[in-house]
Amino acid sequence: MLDTLSPIPTLTHAHKLLSWYDRHHRELPWRVSPSAATAGKRADPYHVWLSEVMLQQTTVQAVKPYFTKFLERWPKVTDLAAAPSEDVMAAWAGLGYYARARNLKKCAEAVANDHHGIFPDTEEGLRALPGIGDYTSAAVAAIAFNRPSAVMDGNVERVISRLYAIDAPLPGSKPEMKARVRELTPTDRPGDFAQAMMDLGATICTPKRPACALCPFRDDCLALAEHEPERFPVKAAKKEKPVRVGAAFVAVTENGEILLRRRIETGLLGGMTEVPTTAWTARIDGGTDIDHAPFDSDWHPCGAITHVFTHFELRLSVFRTRIPAGKEPTGWWVPIEKLDDEALPTVMKKVITQAIPTAFAKH
Ligand code: SF4
Repeated sequence: MLDTLSPIPTLTHAHKLLSWYDRHHRELPWRVSPSAATAGKRADPYHVWLSEVMLQQTTVQAVKPYFTKFLERWPKVTDLAAAPSEDVMAAWAGLGYYARARNLKKCAEAVANDHHGIFPDTEEGLRALPGIGDYTSAAVAAIAFNRPSAVMDGNVERVISRLYAIDAPLPGSKPEMKARVRELTPTDRPGDFAQAMMDLGATICTPKRPACALCPFRDDCLALAEHEPERFPVKAAKKEKPVRVGAAFVAVTENGEILLRRRIETGLLGGMTEVPTTAWTARIDGGTDIDHAPFDSDWHPCGAITHVFTHFELRLSVFRTRIPAGKEPTGWWVPIEKLDDEALPTVMKKVITQAIPTAFAKH
């Protein structure tokens, strides 16, 4: 625990890291990179907030084109606040964790309507906004407003747990890790320090085979001294995810149009677009066959897909039918080559691809 570890010259650590960051930071579209020309300049809070929400559970490479697309369509937070929800959901499609997109819109509206389009500049003020939790409020406060917040993400947890060889398993060790980061954070460049910790975790202190020889902490790192960096962070044993099952139905007209419908607003993937499916149930006798099809037709089985959500694994049997144009079940028909314009979550893209392997090939 904190008081049993040897005292560390924290400011020296911070400055070693910052001088590494000045030379080796990643260039990111939402970031103001450190240089003489940008001294004292801070990143736009809207850009920081948007990127941080997108980056939760998603890689930097995957986020970059989405970030650029969002800024092109909605250059200011007030533009995003005024956008139709369906447009925002469709632009978000493919990033996953769709509750984030709904909260993104709500948060933009709160900033536009309750704060005159200006983000609050403290952690507490930011946390009071819809959908902004501890991590995002700390990250935006540090990066956009240079507040000395302890910003904790997976990268930072890995670095700090190795630096101090923290033996207690996650998630119970989070408070200790946060206290350590708070202790290390310098008052002069806290925003750059937060980004430097993230960059170090992403590029040097990687989960496997960290490049310790290049690390600014190599002379002080307790995990390296013990020759076992990869043992950290220690994690509690994982429970197996429960499985849910269901069936999905891809109906295609002779004109090459697919039947889609909208999920109800609340709950998982709320408001997103889908092909007709049964309820997703944990019952072993759940609806997984053509008895549950949305209408009578000549349905053919075409395999199954698996998709892993945060709290369960979903297995969907997929069925396909070809029908004459003009049928009018509940929903709407979309030409296959226009599917990319729909707010289809990844699980639905998997279903459609299972039924029509070329559906998302570039037309
Ligand atoms: S010395 Fe190695 S294990 Fe320690 S913080 Fe640096 S990269 Fe990570």
